[in-house]
Amino acid sequence: MDKITRRQFNERLSKGIAGTALLSSAPLACAMAGPKKREGSLGIALVGLGSYSTYQLAPALQQTKYCHLAGIVTGTRAKEKIWAERYGMPGRNIYNYENFDAIADNNEIDIVYVVLPNSMHAEFSIRAAQAGKHVICEKPMAISVAECEAIIEACRKAGVKLGIGYRLHSEPYTQEVKRFVKEGTFGKTLYVNAEAAYRSAGNPDQWRLNRALSGGGALMNMGVYSIQSAIYATGENPVKVTAQEFSTRPDYFKDTDETITAQFQFPGGATGAVFTSHNTHANSLYASCSGGWFSLKPANTYGPLAGESANGPIQFPHESQQKLQMDDFASHVLYGSVNKAPGEMGKRDMIIIEAIYRSIAEGNRPIPLELGKMGLS
Ligand code: NAD
Repeated sequence: MDKITRRQFNERLSKGIAGTALLSSAPLACAMAGPKKREGSLGIALVGLGSYSTYQLAPALQQTKYCHLAGIVTGTRAKEKIWAERYGMPGRNIYNYENFDAIADNNEIDIVYVVLPNSMHAEFSIRAAQAGKHVICEKPMAISVAECEAIIEACRKAGVKLGIGYRLHSEPYTQEVKRFVKEGTFGKTLYVNAEAAYRSAGNPDQWRLNRALSGGGALMNMGVYSIQSAIYATGENPVKVTAQEFSTRPDYFKDTDETITAQFQFPGGATGAVFTSHNTHANSLYASCSGGWFSLKPANTYGPLAGESANGPIQFPHESQQKLQMDDFASHVLYGSVNKAPGEMGKRDMIIIEAIYRSIAEGNRPIPLELGKMGLS
């Protein structure tokens, strides 16, 4: 029997020519009737159906090779029907926050992807691990180092894999920058400047501006990208961090940080300037090296990214970063390929975040860090 891939099916469907192929293709017809256990592809359940799940992850899961959208976990009844219809999802794979633990008995779901407000990451990642499911946890991993450690321990104890939603480690521009650093293409990085920011002007009651739900403001949300950039552009973890906070719209940012700058010192002698804000747009990475330079701008949007170096433009075809990231994690689970964003990486970034907040709280004093090679990849 001729095999039709999901992508071909979608293309045919959009052209209105899937019908006859469907009738003569029993396995595909089964797949389309609702997600089922599939050979060589892991079932993912998305927990939290907000904008990232709706507009990025679920569409990307229609393109993935090693995993597919198999289930949802939502607190909103209306979304159950919408998602069930949109993705042909059977009722047995739809959960809410209360009955979520019953997912342990569902062999159509292999991976739970936690896409909730930051303060809920630890609880649901731990419950997923205890249910025997592999876990992808969105960034920032949690709202404290202690929570990150609890997630790592729960996954270790349950014998399940853990990945963080750091999609950039799976996309080619970031891999190229990491390759420059690893191979010393431009010599040693001496200075890195990393910016990640956007201007927030929406609903002042949104969870990202509520410390109890977000754990912090710009630094928790966008700052993780600047921290990550600074680290992969030097290939090292910082040994010292000094930070400052600025607030120009205190009426809007009542509970969370608006703008933070931080200076990193790296063990090999490089220095780093990190900027993050919820008050302006910025998205770039620049590294000056002993024998040249490289830059990405934008450096951490959903793409297409763009880059240049002393050797000329950096150019790669654009693909969904989320597709690449989820396939990388599924392939790690299935075939033991490298885990590109392990829990230790998320924990390492949280240690740096806590050091930045501490520097600010203690009058901008330098905070020493002893991270060794934690989370380096
Ligand atoms: P969102 O506000 O659009 O969605 C949040 C979801 O959580 C909603 O479905 C909401 O109903 C649900 N929820 C459950 N309890 C809630 C509560 N007490 N308060 C508010 N919402 C509650 O947020 P999002 O943009 O989808 O972000 C979700 C997570 O994904 C965050 O951790 C965020 O940092 C992360 N994220 C990552 C990326 C990335 O590029 N990796 C991009 C966007 C978001």
